[in-house]
Amino acid sequence: MPELPEVETTVRGLERVLDGRRIASVEARRPDLRRALPVDLGQRLTGARVTSLGRRAKYGLIETDRGDTLVFHLGMSGHWRVDPTEIAKHDHFIIETDEGRRVALNDARRFGSLDLVRTDALADWPAIEALGPEPFGLDPRELKRPLAGRSAAIKLLLLDQRIVAGLGNIYVCEALYRAGIHPRRAGGSVSLERLKRLVLAIEEVLTEAIAAGGSTLRDFASPDGELGYFSKTFQVYDREGKACGCGGRVKRIVQGGRSTFFCPRCQR
Ligand SMILES: [Zn+2]
Repeated sequence: MPELPEVETTVRGLERVLDGRRIASVEARRPDLRRALPVDLGQRLTGARVTSLGRRAKYGLIETDRGDTLVFHLGMSGHWRVDPTEIAKHDHFIIETDEGRRVALNDARRFGSLDLVRTDALADWPAIEALGPEPFGLDPRELKRPLAGRSAAIKLLLLDQRIVAGLGNIYVCEALYRAGIHPRRAGGSVSLERLKRLVLAIEEVLTEAIAAGGSTLRDFASPDGELGYFSKTFQVYDREGKACGCGGRVKRIVQGGRSTFFCPRCQR
């Protein structure tokens, strides 16, 4: 499942093809993904110029000079293909630029979404309005406020998009490990000092993953490049039973129906 670093890498890859280009045509090859595509998608995008690309949490944003922003979410399996030589079965949405380059949103499981939102109303768009602050540049005191008095596990609170936006299971596990915080610890019991370490750890794990993703972008110069997926190495995630540097072993527990990986010796 794509997490924030995959979305960031995808946006940077799409930027190389789309930024500043006029959209020559768009093709919606089915009426819906997770939900219906806007019916006027083609009409509003065709002929528009892309003025910037960005990301909010796990939403990719493609802004045009007509005051619209195309908002995409990759869901479980979504990814953009760059200059596909052939249109594949699950290429559901295709943008062609005035340079004749194409990008195709491929999503076999169709948990992704595409929406067209007025750029000046984007901050009030329900899915975005509900989001907490981005995990970069987070103020530890700002993070402490929503955690105060909470007995829920810190792991689960960090996955709450209203508290921090864009964090997923993998990077929460990795960040808690680096910060030495036990995933079951009550959110309200994590001191400001330890939250400072946690904020740094979150930025570190995400920055490293984005850098790893960025280093794969050169492959997309060739046709049929796939944006956003790259191999990563984790210290605890998906490493149940493997050795930790402390001599202990990585343990797996289930929290909120999802696996948590941690080192019981290093994390308190
Ligand atoms: Zn350890």
